Amino acid sequence: MRKNMIDIAWESFAALPLEDKAPYLRQADGTPFHTLFAQQFDPPLLDRLCTLANCIRSIAKTRAGMDFMRQQICHKRAMLYFSQPSSRTFLSFVSACQILGMQIGEVRDSATSSEFKGESREDSVRTFSSYFDLIVMRSPEKGLAEHMAWVLSNSERPIPVINAGSGKDQHPTQALLDIYTLQRSFERIGGLRDRTIVMVGDLARGRTVRSLAVLLAGYPNVRQVFVAPEALQIGEDVQAVLRQRGVEFSLSDNLRSWLPQADAVYMTRIQDEWDQARGESAGIDTSRFKFGLEELALLRPHAIVMHPLPRRDEIDTAVDRDPRAMYWRQMRNGMWVRAALIAMTFGCERRVLDYQRANL
Ligand code: ASP
Repeated sequence: MRKNMIDIAWESFAALPLEDKAPYLRQADGTPFHTLFAQQFDPPLLDRLCTLANCIRSIAKTRAGMDFMRQQICHKRAMLYFSQPSSRTFLSFVSACQILGMQIGEVRDSATSSEFKGESREDSVRTFSSYFDLIVMRSPEKGLAEHMAWVLSNSERPIPVINAGSGKDQHPTQALLDIYTLQRSFERIGGLRDRTIVMVGDLARGRTVRSLAVLLAGYPNVRQVFVAPEALQIGEDVQAVLRQRGVEFSLSDNLRSWLPQADAVYMTRIQDEWDQARGESAGIDTSRFKFGLEELALLRPHAIVMHPLPRRDEIDTAVDRDPRAMYWRQMRNGMWVRAALIAMTFGCERRVLDYQRANL
């Protein structure tokens, strides 16, 4: 069922569990209007998104196809509001918008916007909505994108908000590209079911894993293994979601022991920008949470190695040459899946699928 954000006060909306917020964020056809967290997506919607991403990818191979794609939302403009460092996510959203013909504006540092003069973020975001039709937003604050989505939905110009990373909490579009990468990698060997996905590193503060774990929970018989030093283990809140959904999962501090049964290994870096005290994470022994040639030798031939990037030293560069190293392709997949998400948000799905059917 679909609900309307103008019917609920911010305090009441904010207090809802995430699953209960999802109906307020969708459009009549079940696709997202605002994209704020992973709990909005289930496998049928993810399949739709992956199909559309594949379709855009193949249409964009030819000049005629790109001409078609660029006409899809050339009448819309996107504001990329990134108040936290980003290179990949920012550039992939820029590319995704360009594929669809959207014009782009950007604020990458709130010191260069009127927030510096004391303007509230609510007012800044409402200002953007006067000029733009979509806001893609990265912020160090959990829940800010959600609040802005509510503010805009209750304004005279309700425009969609896409969360491009919210603090330590969620990074839903990264999780979408991770699912897309897993689906493509396993499509010839039975798809994303009956798999073991091993997630490694700073799982306490790694928002990509927190979103991915929720998406994976929807797939049949996908076991999740969280490998981390005790202090950086996956949050109790994510574990509660998995328990409630009957997902088989394990916590471990022994990477090598899981590699022979892994279908995918998802490495992450230590997120020390969130350290409470300077150098806090440096005191944690992370030496056993790295992936090198010895770990690669334990991996099955069909298994893949993923990383949301940027990497530090958690994956040895010698691994890059192995066909199972998926992280560079994973990054490019982000552009296609984000283009698909934006196309869906603006109601272009049918048109794009029909074009492919008629022309390719
Ligand atoms: N790029 C990802 C993020 O924004 C992963 C990371 O920074 O480690 O969360």
